[in-house]
Order: sequence, then C-alpha cells, then structure tokens
Amino acid sequence: MTALPETMQALVVSAPSQMSIQEVPVPVPGRNEVLARVRAVSICGTDAHLIHGDYPGFWPPAFPFIPGHEWAGEIAALGPGADLYGWRVGDRVAGTSHDACGVCQKCVEGQYNLCENYGKPGLHKQYGHNQQGADATYVVQGVKTIFRLPDALSFDDGALVDPASIALHVANRGGVRPGDTVAITGAGTIGMLAGDAALIRGAGRVIVVGRGYRLAKAGAMGFETVDSSAVDAVATVRAMTGGLGADVALECAGVPEMVNAALGMLRRGGRCAAVGIPTVGVEIGMQRLVLDELELVGSRASAGEMRRVMPHVEQGRIRIREMVTHRFTLAQYQQAIDTFNDRASGAIKIIVNP
Ligand SMILES: [Zn+2]
Ligand SMILES: [Zn+2]
Repeated sequence: MTALPETMQALVVSAPSQMSIQEVPVPVPGRNEVLARVRAVSICGTDAHLIHGDYPGFWPPAFPFIPGHEWAGEIAALGPGADLYGWRVGDRVAGTSHDACGVCQKCVEGQYNLCENYGKPGLHKQYGHNQQGADATYVVQGVKTIFRLPDALSFDDGALVDPASIALHVANRGGVRPGDTVAITGAGTIGMLAGDAALIRGAGRVIVVGRGYRLAKAGAMGFETVDSSAVDAVATVRAMTGGLGADVALECAGVPEMVNAALGMLRRGGRCAAVGIPTVGVEIGMQRLVLDELELVGSRASAGEMRRVMPHVEQGRIRIREMVTHRFTLAQYQQAIDTFNDRASGAIKIIVNP
C-alpha cells in the first residue's frame, strides 16, 4: 500500500454561495469505516440548494462544509473492523449518503432511510448533508454506505448509482405493476431514471411531464412526453389514457403545482409516490383523494436499492450514461455548479473528477 498524503484538495463552502478549493487534512477512518480515493462525484440538485444555503442549520448543520454524496472511487485505507466485512484496499466502490444507526426499529426493519436517530451525533450520519462529503480527493464513509462497483462500470458510472437507487425506490414506493400506465412529473435526472425504473417493474407505458431540453431528452429516450409549458398537463394525460388517467404517478418535480397535477392525472384508485420536496406547503384536493381512493405516499432516498439497482445499471436498463452532459475537474467546481444552475447550459448531470 502506498503511503497516504496528509492533506488533500477539497471543495470548502465557507458560507452560502461562498466556496473555494482548499488544502485540508485527509480524514481518518474510524471503526467500520473506510477512507476512499474519490474518482468521480456527481452534482445533485440537493448540492446546489445546500451550497446556496437553502436549508439553514440542517444541511449543512454549520459552515464551513464539504458537500458531495453521489460518488465512486477506490478504498485507500481501512478503519478498524472494516476488513471483517470483506473490504480491502483497492476495492472499487460506489457510495450513498445514509449511514444510519442500524439499531433503532426502523433500521432493524430495513427502513434505514427513516432512521429514528437521524442526525444524532455518534449514531447517524448523512454524508454530504450533515457530515463531510465527497467533493474532495478523499472521503471517509461507513461500510454500510459503500457498494462494490462491477468491473463493467466506470467510476463516472458509479457516481450515478445513488440517484439510480433513488429512482428505483420511488418506483417501488409507487407500487408499479406489470402493464401499468405511469405518469412522471418532472423531467430531471430522477424523473427520467424513474421512468426506466418503472419499465423494469413492468410498466406498459411511461409518460413524462416536463418542459424544455430535459423533456426533449426524455422524448429522445423513448418516453411519451407532455410539455407542461404548452398544454394542460392533467387534461392531456387523461386524454392520452382514454379519459381514465394513469395507474401510478411518480412526482419528481417538487413544485406545488406538479404535486396537484400528479394527483390530477391519476386513475381512480391510483397511487402517487412523491420524491420531489416542495419548499412550501401544498394544498391538495382531499375530496377527490377520498372519493377516488387515491393514495399519496412519500419516498425518501433509498433503502436497499443500491444493491438491487446495480445490475440494472450494469446492463443498461437504467440509462445513467444518457444523463451525463458535462465533466469538470474539482478545481473547476465553481464553473461546474454555475453550469448546473444555468438552465441555458443544457446541463442534466455533471460529473466532477477530483
Ligand atoms: Zn443526490
Ligand atoms: Zn436507526
């Protein structure tokens, strides 16, 4: 094993929208943790919000902070105990963010995304959210949050396994069944990957509702599309489904009008799973929800889908490579985030290679 450096390059956000690349100490892995050399990290909408200071005191709890949670790389050092779980220096891995306590009843029952010790020091970490993340040449993560990367997947691919797992989770939460018509509101990365996840679960039709170049991308990927900037999306989806509506809606936009649109598109007895997080309260039509027995469920991160999505990513059924529009080095992070935030850039997914 080659000697590790004592310092590394990291993106340090010192205050909202204030960031620089700094030389900081390489973190030391604790019990059941590994130190990984980060080879690729992808920019998520959450990163943009967090850097902008949209979740004060929560994500991150305080500045300065190193974000980044969708990454892949190779293990550079093992903390005590990590070897007992089969990990070795040099192993290629993809990371995810929720390092839950593993002991509360939600964790024991497999819903570690709902850990009842969320954010409690010493019990729960969410990398790149309330714990230092992967926008650096090295990151420390617990063994529960790393997954072996198949040889056929590059590190750039590996950085998109986390969002792919979130897309599979929302399709699972939607309970998509073979032959279902699935409407997806929001043509971002999660929306498009959720379309693929719905197909994996057997959807007969996938209709993506969105706008602009991202909707064009969804169309190019073979999904039926509805341009919400040009037509009444609810009426159009209902017309496309013989007036009946979609069996399942996956709400991936996170804006109030799209939450209502997703519910409005549902067939009687339909189910909407929401992964988009509106920043304000949303008024929903309870009469129709009750009288048509609609279901509305939340979908947070993933819980077990990292392993389950990996073969679908590897075999090209979840088309992560279609999402990547730009690549930058870590030193170019400011340019990368500016490109991500610029709707005219055509950006969908941006990969940063530290
Ligand atoms: Zn993310
Ligand atoms: Zn827990």
